[in-house]
Amino acid sequence: MSRLVMKFGGTSVANIERIRNVARHVERERAAGHDIAVVVSAMAGKTNELVGWCKEASELFDQREYDAVVASGEQVTSGLLALVLQQRGVAARSWQGWQIPILTSGTHGSARIESIDGSAILEGFEARKEVAVIAGFQGLHQKTRRIATLGRGGSDTSAVALAAALGAERCDIYTDVDGVYTTDPRVVPKARRLDRIAFEEMLEMASLGAKVLQVRSVELAMVHKVKTFVRSSFDDPADPRPGTLICGEEDILEQPVVTGIAFSKDEALITLRRVADRPGMAAAIFMPLAEADINVDMIIQVASEDAVATDITFTVPAAELERAEKILHKAQPHIGFASLNGASDVVKISAIGIGMRSHAGVAARAFKALAEKGINIRAITTSEIKFSVLIEAAYTELAVRTLHALYGLDKA
Ligand code: ADP
Ligand code: ASP
Ligand code: MG
Repeated sequence: MSRLVMKFGGTSVANIERIRNVARHVERERAAGHDIAVVVSAMAGKTNELVGWCKEASELFDQREYDAVVASGEQVTSGLLALVLQQRGVAARSWQGWQIPILTSGTHGSARIESIDGSAILEGFEARKEVAVIAGFQGLHQKTRRIATLGRGGSDTSAVALAAALGAERCDIYTDVDGVYTTDPRVVPKARRLDRIAFEEMLEMASLGAKVLQVRSVELAMVHKVKTFVRSSFDDPADPRPGTLICGEEDILEQPVVTGIAFSKDEALITLRRVADRPGMAAAIFMPLAEADINVDMIIQVASEDAVATDITFTVPAAELERAEKILHKAQPHIGFASLNGASDVVKISAIGIGMRSHAGVAARAFKALAEKGINIRAITTSEIKFSVLIEAAYTELAVRTLHALYGLDKA
């Protein structure tokens, strides 16, 4: 029989009634003749609560214990869905990451899946006609032999990795929207649902802030060519819509210049004033940050007027602002800047589209449109299929809506 992976996010399993609704979706696919592995997230809000408890318990928490705590949300929902399915007469068994096992590497709290042994699940399909209900977001760390979690939103990655490991025909990611939109539909009501989006575009959208899929899940789908759909769990289980297919660009007929707009508030801006204008300065600033694993994204260096000192501005993840400031102050005698200014009231707005490869002036149009709205751009980056601007956070909605309309993405 063909195999299917179905993943349900937090709002889709937020209470027992919704879990019953999930069971109805599972039953439909089973009736259609699939063997099914279901991946579940924790109930909506649960992971945030668990993370909050860790922070309350200990300021500098041990990542292994953090994982022990935050992985528990998915343990609960996997057991509950198995119970609900059994109650409805469907053979089902729950699986934690360590039981399969899903082996992981890397750091606790943001581990990477290394391998999945699908044999126990396949045996359940064959010998017992059993639906496998798998706790998302977690695995067994191959070095520490402890529970490890995959980073926020990691159940998407559990699902796609399982689909690849089980040779599934499809991976359906059920969520609280009916597909991938041209931008976050909660921010722009005129956003349109896309029937298809290319892997590369989805990868950029996710990396640049669209939380609908975890970045790593898109990478895995692309590498392993997993046919992945994003669709709604709130559709009638008897008559659901297909949602959005994430696919190769060769499978998309009409390619607009800009496919989507993403935004991320997870940015902070650091400006160093009057840094000595001589060789080796950039290294003196950015090496200590790199050694501390702090990701620097946009960088602007102003050409100095006097050839003596210059200003350097760059962005780091908002969560790392304090740490970055400390490191730079420590290195101040070596770098020799006059002042350091940190700001986290900024947002990065990005436009993404494969069509940009073959069109010039796409970003320039955005600069003009934003200027007309009185929005000041503080930093810019561009690459082959996207460009990003950093602006004041207060203008987020206005800027996203402006660019969305500018590139003809608004619903008719
Ligand atoms: P789940 O709990 O099911 O994993 P998430 O909250 O992680 O759901 O992801 C779904 C949310 O992603 C939507 O409610 C929507 O607000 C947000 N989102 C952001 N950008 C987009 C986009 N371009 N298309 C669809 N949803 C988006
Ligand atoms: N429950 C986890 C989170 O909230 C994983 C997920 O939902 O994908 O991040
Ligand atoms: Mg999610």
